[in-house]
Amino acid sequence: MQNIVVLGSTGSIGVQTLDAARNLGLTVVGLTANKNVKLLAEQIEAFKPTKAAIADEQDAAYLRGRFPNTEISHGEEGTLEVAEMAETVVNAISGIAGLAPTLAAIRTCKKIAIANKETLVAAGEIVMEAAKERGVAVCPIDSEHSAVFQCLAGGENPIKKIYLTASGGPFRGFTKKRLETVTKADALRHPTWNMGAKITIDSATMMNKGLEVIEARWLFNAPPENIEVVVHPQSVVHSMVEFEDGAILAQLGAPDMRLPIQYALTYPKRFKNPYKRINFLERMSLTFEPPDMETFPCLRLAYDAMRIGGEAPAVMNGANEAAVALFLEEKIAFARIYELIEQTMRSYTLKRNTLDDILAADAWARERVAEMALKY
Ligand code: NDP
Repeated sequence: MQNIVVLGSTGSIGVQTLDAARNLGLTVVGLTANKNVKLLAEQIEAFKPTKAAIADEQDAAYLRGRFPNTEISHGEEGTLEVAEMAETVVNAISGIAGLAPTLAAIRTCKKIAIANKETLVAAGEIVMEAAKERGVAVCPIDSEHSAVFQCLAGGENPIKKIYLTASGGPFRGFTKKRLETVTKADALRHPTWNMGAKITIDSATMMNKGLEVIEARWLFNAPPENIEVVVHPQSVVHSMVEFEDGAILAQLGAPDMRLPIQYALTYPKRFKNPYKRINFLERMSLTFEPPDMETFPCLRLAYDAMRIGGEAPAVMNGANEAAVALFLEEKIAFARIYELIEQTMRSYTLKRNTLDDILAADAWARERVAEMALKY
């Protein structure tokens, strides 16, 4: 079996990837983290990778002292070095910080298992073209995209529609008025998934589903009008594909990210695992309903950004990252997240959508949100 590197190994997806890797008996040759030096040290001790990287220079010096047999580097350069060292790279970094490592990995790897959705939202076209040029397989980890990927395995039939399922998050059924008083603790209480803080807030605003719609657009080369969101609170059907003849394929499974992570690692094969299974003989019901884009307008913003194209998704993504960070610091109210993104998107003028334009648009959107947030 393969050697893998895990970028963002200390996060929610990173930790579950290491669990899946242990179960599959894979060799982990590279690990990266941002701030969590304690957990990275535990992971180095357990997996004994050849290389590891962490953002801070002093943290790197500490790790070097403890682990003489692992080459330790720091900063963005360090992450890029690790990204380039294996045939299979898992990108579990959160946010746009995952973009440069994704492009670095694509230059040298054979397969990239990608959880880092912000990268595909901001620069999906560039990333997918680079992967195609080098013949690199892009295997999605996001459960919805993994579901679509699995529904499409072994067939070349054109897609009529992709249905991305959404749990609806912790505030499903809330009115706009009720959302005015929700707190950070309320927003962090997701009903079905246990995830990192940023994506949990994205689920509460439904921006997560918006990001996933754009992600699907690039991963499956699907026009925006062919991607539909359907709310499915049980999170058992992970997504569906409708074909020309009206047949619909769906992928089902317990809500456990280790399953799509494992599939991305072993694709196109399937291997045994000890994870929870669905039992249809237990009483259960599966329900589907349309999303409420009035109460959760972030989803509509994502459709707007996708239709506008160019750097619009990068602006939306940058503004969202900045606004969510402010909400997590309890500096702005929940409803302000949408307002800040919408105002930022409205004041942007499109450029030529080069990688430099995308990175500049991302930085511009973050500054704009910071300026506007100060005014309240
Ligand atoms: P977490 O916040 O739990 O983890 C993020 C990881 O990235 C950590 O290892 C963190 O390091 C590292 N990191 C953060 N910022 C930087 C940076 N600037 N440079 C380098 N590394 C950095 O996030 P999740 O695991 O929840 O999510 C990761 C990605 O996967 C996101 O894009 C998310 O949308 C996507 N995703 C997540 C799902 C989930 O179930 N969690 C489901 C589907 C997709 P450190 O911990 O050391 O600070």
